[in-house]
Amino acid sequence: MQQGINPWASSQTVDVGKLFTEFGIEPMETVIDRLPDVPPFMRRGIVVGHRDYGPIADAVRNRTPFNVMTGFMPSGHPHLGHLMVMKEVVWHVEQGGRGYVAVADREAHAVRGIPWEQCREFGREYLTCLYALGYQGTTYAQSSNDPLKDLAFEAAIKINFSDLSAIYGFTQETSLAHGMSVATQVADILYPQTDCGPAPTVVPVGIDQDPHIRLTRDVAYKLRMFLVEQRDGHVSVRSKNAPDAAIDAVHAAFPGSKRYGGHVDVRGGDLQAIEAAVREIEIDHGGYGFIAPSATYHTFMQGLQGGKMSSSVPESFISFHESEKDLKKKVMGALTGGRMTLEEQKRLGGEPERCSVYLLNLFHMEEDDAELAEICRKCRSGEMMCGTCKKETLERTKAFLKDFRERMDEVEHLVDE
Ligand code: SF4
Repeated sequence: MQQGINPWASSQTVDVGKLFTEFGIEPMETVIDRLPDVPPFMRRGIVVGHRDYGPIADAVRNRTPFNVMTGFMPSGHPHLGHLMVMKEVVWHVEQGGRGYVAVADREAHAVRGIPWEQCREFGREYLTCLYALGYQGTTYAQSSNDPLKDLAFEAAIKINFSDLSAIYGFTQETSLAHGMSVATQVADILYPQTDCGPAPTVVPVGIDQDPHIRLTRDVAYKLRMFLVEQRDGHVSVRSKNAPDAAIDAVHAAFPGSKRYGGHVDVRGGDLQAIEAAVREIEIDHGGYGFIAPSATYHTFMQGLQGGKMSSSVPESFISFHESEKDLKKKVMGALTGGRMTLEEQKRLGGEPERCSVYLLNLFHMEEDDAELAEICRKCRSGEMMCGTCKKETLERTKAFLKDFRERMDEVEHLVDE
């Protein structure tokens, strides 16, 4: 299993540096400059890494088509820990991306045993939150999307049990439905490209979801008919499993190309243009022409008691319908980066990077970068004590929730539409 990462575990720590060095996730710094406008979640280091985000940054800058896709497992009520992915999706849609959001009800039912009716209720809540943030795009439940189920079946042909045990630690006791829900997730990620044709697709996820991304990229590659590569100044188009008619079509599409069995050697021409033409030929011959999906990885919003913010630890998360009394109890009782005594705090200052209250502000409650920097400065210098800081954060959170709930009420009808 990848560095002990299990996407279905409720809490875990992940060594981000190790993911960069061992699993090919690149730091955002390698690509962030290509974006015309850097969103807060990247500026503030919440999104820490990516796979192949370059084509997405280019599509944003050049206003060319791309997709943004994610899914939510409706295994409980949504809470603040889910908000980051939603904001990332909405931001990409605002930048011109076509939005796709799946309610992963098959997964919730298969993996967590959530009854279908409850999946529907929780799914509605997730979508209401998303619309409250201004989302516009496609939404669906896995269980009611027939083309998705067909695609999941095709994807499942390319996934075997040794993949599942290597990637997720599946054992002989793991149910077949769990394996099917993996294939369905792979299909979710590839689905936008079957809906509107091949295009770069970004999947904003928490860093624990990387196994799904790696598996999906592998399946996308396996479902391609051709492999297109630059070699010694030529472009080589190799058949992986293309029918003869498709190979003939590739040969005919590039005058001067040479065909050697299942291999067409194209002399001259732009790699990207050849790649695009080959994708079209694939689609004309019943293939998919998938572009391997890209991903961004964000760190987790720390729970109010440390660890990951998780539905299974009620004191750790803030729900969108938290009562004032509970909210106060949770924020005022949160684990901070403060010192043992006031005297020490004044002398040494606090440690905001270890503080769940600071992170609450960093992720969602303080949108103004200058104000956030001021909280950080006052904490580090020992100028501000945790009690004051918590009270101010509580007020910000109350105002945020009040506003968010009003917006949820206004958009609830969109879920039915
Ligand atoms: Fe956290 Fe605020 Fe205390 Fe600093 S002053 S440790 S940010 S609660």
